[in-house]
Amino acid sequence: MDQWIKAGKIGAEVLNYAKSIAKPGIQLLELAEKIEKKTAELGAKPAFPVNLSLNHIAAHYTPLPNDPTVYKEEDILKIDIGCHLDGHISDTALTVGNNTELIKASQDALKAAMKLATPGTELREIGKAIQEAIKSHGFSPIRNLSGHQIEKYDLHAGMIIPNFDNGDDNELEEGQIIAIEPFATTGQGKVTEGKPSTIYRLLQTRPVRDPTTKKILQHIEKEFSTLPFCKRDVIRKYPTANFSLNILERQEIIKNYAQLIEETKGLVSQAEHTVLVKDKPVILTKC
Ligand code: MN
Ligand code: MN
Repeated sequence: MDQWIKAGKIGAEVLNYAKSIAKPGIQLLELAEKIEKKTAELGAKPAFPVNLSLNHIAAHYTPLPNDPTVYKEEDILKIDIGCHLDGHISDTALTVGNNTELIKASQDALKAAMKLATPGTELREIGKAIQEAIKSHGFSPIRNLSGHQIEKYDLHAGMIIPNFDNGDDNELEEGQIIAIEPFATTGQGKVTEGKPSTIYRLLQTRPVRDPTTKKILQHIEKEFSTLPFCKRDVIRKYPTANFSLNILERQEIIKNYAQLIEETKGLVSQAEHTVLVKDKPVILTKC
């Protein structure tokens, strides 16, 4: 259990730090690099590339290697961070911006849901609590995004933690680790796939002919195993990796995740903690 607790503490510290430097005017690339540096300083590795998603992008945006995007005064920015220690993962997120009511909606939903992270709670009850909290602020939950169970080296393991009452009467069990992540939106509450994110994951290994691509594939296997990584991670070591990443993607050796966009272009806020299911739930990523 120690490693899970430690990974949670580091995740909380990194997110706290990210919040402190995420001021309007900062370039997303600078923010991402500082977050990655902090994660390394604290002795952890990223469990996935930091997601810095603006406005109607709900998730799966990470800066490109030369990304000029700046977080502006009028924007709402979701910062979603994953850390791991030998595969013990923590996953935590918050939202910054001046749309305080929308931000509070996802925070309140998370609070209500975390109280229910006890053995015997039906998953639908968590979804219901999230839905009600978000509705009480006049917004909608995003129904096709959800929290998830976490296991060693497996960020999305088994159970789905719904953001609405989806009728799932499966029950939480003592000792499970779950990420609860309500998304609140001014839109209708559904995400759809947008442009490629350049966040990738290894699907399978297969022989490749091109020597550089072969080397890059070996690097991916060794460095990230089954966990997601991004173009920036690879370009840092192999500046000409674009070509190889395209080959690997075409051969379905790696998958390029799509950005997730709120279908009606509603603004989106997110709050997330990693929680240990217990009679008195333990918030592992508590700041
Ligand atoms: Mn997350
Ligand atoms: Mn998550």
